[in-house]
Amino acid sequence: MTRHQGRHFLQIPGPSPVPDRVLRAMDMPVIDHRSAEFAELGRAVLQGSQKVFKTAGPVIIFPSSGTGAWEACIVNTLSPGDKVLMVETGHFATLWRQMVARWGIEVDFLPGDWRHGASPGEVGAKLAQDTGHEIKAVMVVHNETSTGVTSRISDIRAAIDEAKHPALLLVDTISSLGSVDYRHDEWGVDVTVSCSQKGFMLPPGLGFNAISEKARAAGKTNKMPRSYWDWEEMLKPNAGGFFPYTPATNLLYGLREAIAMLLEEGLDAVFSRHQRLAAATRAAVKHWGLEVLCLEPAEYSPVLTAVLMPPGHDADQFRRIVLDNYNMSLGAGLSKLVGKVFRIGHLGECNELTLLGALSGVELGLSAAGVPHRAGGVAAAMAYLEGPVEANAPMHLKVVDI
Ligand SMILES: *Cc1c(COP(=O)(O)O)cnc(C)c1O
Repeated sequence: MTRHQGRHFLQIPGPSPVPDRVLRAMDMPVIDHRSAEFAELGRAVLQGSQKVFKTAGPVIIFPSSGTGAWEACIVNTLSPGDKVLMVETGHFATLWRQMVARWGIEVDFLPGDWRHGASPGEVGAKLAQDTGHEIKAVMVVHNETSTGVTSRISDIRAAIDEAKHPALLLVDTISSLGSVDYRHDEWGVDVTVSCSQKGFMLPPGLGFNAISEKARAAGKTNKMPRSYWDWEEMLKPNAGGFFPYTPATNLLYGLREAIAMLLEEGLDAVFSRHQRLAAATRAAVKHWGLEVLCLEPAEYSPVLTAVLMPPGHDADQFRRIVLDNYNMSLGAGLSKLVGKVFRIGHLGECNELTLLGALSGVELGLSAAGVPHRAGGVAAAMAYLEGPVEANAPMHLKVVDI
């Protein structure tokens, strides 16, 4: 095995690197989770999370991966035999669909090409046809981590409203929350699903559900057996800062610190930093003569960039060379994209110099792997970053055409 000096570059789109400040905040003795000291921590993270989700309603925190938070969302709102509308944005939407189907729920899966986000027009048309209101929920992945495409959730909301359809809106923000503009209340989302190891800059182990009153009401009448994931069991002790079972105490210390970091920088500044780093990455990719997977500029992901390999070159071979030579992990292509794309994560604990280091590793790797490209992509990214820091705007209003 090759030994490397210096830090490993973890440039995958989650888990993302954990800031030292968060690591230090977690380096604490485990405390009694029934104590007054714990309740203070519990209240701080439950209230702090509301600011990040932009909701006045409850945010539930499970000791789980994101997949657990997906399941919690389903079992608390839907019943076997229900019908839902989902959109095939990529690998993660496909996995979520499989999970929904396992619960005996019928899925109308709007096909997608994995290069575009969920189409508000198509969602609206489906709902308009559903005059009997059989569709109980519209389920969308906000940032499709397998493709680097970010769907426009506020436009999806508008399409649901225009169709005057009562379906719940359930959104996976696992790789977008804390990195991409997102507004649970304002956009009328019923359940926002997220987890700790992406935009929250924490280790894996926490799953989140932000829930609307309508979603909570659905949970009072739906017919799905549940116990560990039951929202009402959580909400009772949460009111006092406690949990019904042993929470992931030290991850919660980290969460308190991570929320403080996000709010100190300011969420708008966090979002524009991600957009800038993403645009600089695309400048490099374009200069190399490679292709970004996402075909819609208004849907470019601020979190990661998926890059297509030229025909005849294997993305996994390239990633192996980058890891062996330069101690950097890049994201792999998933399911039908295996070997075809590599993904550069630029989320969370990432700034201009981290990004330029990562892009240098990619450029060195392209040379080492014999992938045809035009040298100077890193310089192109620098040229972009030398430009003015633009005023922040919601991502789909400000299109950086690179
Ligand atoms: C990472 C990810 C998941 C899965 O989360 P786990 O913590 O691995 O269970 C689901 N959806 C999206 C969009 C993701 O990026």
